[in-house]
Amino acid sequence: MSQGVKKGSIEVITGPMFSGKTEELIRRVSRAEIAKIPYMLFKPMFDTRYSETEIVSHDNKRIGAKPVMDAKEILGLSIDADIVGIDEAQFFSPELVEACVKLANGGVRVIVAGLDMDYLSKPFQPMPNLLGVADKVTKLKAICIECKGDASLTHRINITAEKRLMLGEKDSYEPLCRSCYTKYLK
Ligand SMILES: [Zn+2]
Repeated sequence: MSQGVKKGSIEVITGPMFSGKTEELIRRVSRAEIAKIPYMLFKPMFDTRYSETEIVSHDNKRIGAKPVMDAKEILGLSIDADIVGIDEAQFFSPELVEACVKLANGGVRVIVAGLDMDYLSKPFQPMPNLLGVADKVTKLKAICIECKGDASLTHRINITAEKRLMLGEKDSYEPLCRSCYTKYLK
């Protein structure tokens, strides 16, 4: 445990795909690692896109992370951590919100990264509720591939099945601004 008074908080990093959420999570946790603050970093168990025990950003930055099944497992493994980071939080159940509040109330700095909306531009649980309880929200933007403006939405290309859990492969999704996204809906 760190010296002095522990100040718990919940930080949420959100936005569309390709907005740099994972990069930002890695940046914040890496600074803590350098300062020798005990931390735990988690990701959903099924997210095995690149590596079983690492979080890897689109630009290939990587840091060790523990794959977990649910929020209960996060609580159980965070006993000695002063910082808890969670990536791809949109894939956890609504119980994640309660777990984050519990950790923060206990003095832990909780940093959560996740998609705010799915490719249908519907809020992606449990992110809306996490945004509600957050002390600090960082909403990142990608760049719209059509008009090169700020993009806050993720458009799915090559749709073959209604599979919301389909993971963030670069060739399956593209970031769009609201105006360009709306054109695709017509
Ligand atoms: Zn656009």
